[in-house]
Amino acid sequence: MQKIDYLIVGQGIAGSMLAWTLRSRGCKIRVIDDQRPSSSRVAAGICNPVTGRKLAKTWLADELFPFLHSFYSALEESLQARFFYPVPLYRPYQSIEEQNFFIAQTANPVLEGYVKPSEQNEAYSPLIHNELGGLETLQAAWVDLPVLLTEIHKILEQEDSFEETEFQWDEVQLTPETARWRSYEAKMIISCEGAYGRFNPHFNWLPWAVVKGEIMNLDIPGPSFPGIVNQSVWIQAHPNGKYRAGSNYEWNDLTWEPSEKGKTYLLDKFSKLIKVPFKIEKHVAGIRPATQGRRPFVGVHPGHSTLGIFNGLGSKGTSMAPFLAKQFADFLVDRKELHPEANIQRFHTLYFS
Ligand SMILES: Cc1cc2nc3c(=O)[nH]c(=O)nc-3n(C[C@H](O)[C@H](O)[C@H](O)COP(=O)(O)OP(=O)(O)OC[C@H]3O[C@@H](n4cnc5c(N)ncnc54)[C@H](O)[C@@H]3O)c2cc1C
Repeated sequence: MQKIDYLIVGQGIAGSMLAWTLRSRGCKIRVIDDQRPSSSRVAAGICNPVTGRKLAKTWLADELFPFLHSFYSALEESLQARFFYPVPLYRPYQSIEEQNFFIAQTANPVLEGYVKPSEQNEAYSPLIHNELGGLETLQAAWVDLPVLLTEIHKILEQEDSFEETEFQWDEVQLTPETARWRSYEAKMIISCEGAYGRFNPHFNWLPWAVVKGEIMNLDIPGPSFPGIVNQSVWIQAHPNGKYRAGSNYEWNDLTWEPSEKGKTYLLDKFSKLIKVPFKIEKHVAGIRPATQGRRPFVGVHPGHSTLGIFNGLGSKGTSMAPFLAKQFADFLVDRKELHPEANIQRFHTLYFS
């Protein structure tokens, strides 16, 4: 038996951030992933602290956003790679009423440091309908997740800490002290399986509410704009001169394939926002590991002290994963408290009933 500290199942953004954080704490880790379709490989990686028509501040934004900016910048240094793009998020006003509401909200103390009327309207106007101007969300960013995940994967491979195989839960033996899988004995096995977590026999009782989303790569001719445009859908300018744009929310069709319904929805929204003819270059779909109550699933299984979960990041994995990985590592290594709204302890009655 090879002794390790943590066996992590899944190398999406959740598993990657947890693996990196635990490794930085000196823990011996091993990551298992069979490279099936994943949400992180599809996602736009946008970090947006203020969302929706009511300009709601993201859960824990005051902690998450300063943390993610310093975390991803430092990670770029460590990995010697470029994947973190702090950019403004631009919201063209849809009506005079919305303009009035958004501008009034710039004086709301809760949103101080997060929103301001944009001074860059003309940078968007060649491509985007923004006749009334727009609001700028500050502290926004996007992460090129495929680049980040590939870089983390390389390090794990170099350190012989990665294995490409399907993790089957019936191969696991759990005792109060150890978790065994094949030739490994760990202090804990941690499920970071994204939307597949709902099929995990140990965690299928959690209140999952996974939701499919679709994204397109677009070719839009004309001068590029500086950030991300957001008006119910979003359009993200990529450094290669192309654009990624999405997304919809679909709860019934939970396949990983893009659909005609998704395409029709997205094209309708894009054509109202983009002024010039554009071409679709690619159309992909993924399943967000969302939860009822929209809070993550972090913590230890109520019946098995050597089984953990780091999941339920929904549509905000890029913003939440670094901060929650630190919280979970603090809990595992230093016995600190987990955030009660993230801790799966809040659902223990569901398991025991
Ligand atoms: C269209 C779309 C757009 C999105 N846009 C954004 C965005 O802009 N910003 C944002 O923050 N979030 C966005 N999201 C959400 C984001 O994708 C998720 O929050 C995040 O990727 C979840 O990461 P994860 O690691 O939990 O899951 P995943 O990325 O799905 O990773 C799970 C991993 O586990 C592996 N795995 C699972 N089970 C097993 C097993 N039994 N054996 C071996 N390997 C296994 C899979 O291969 C996979 O690599 C978007 C999602 C979609 C679908």
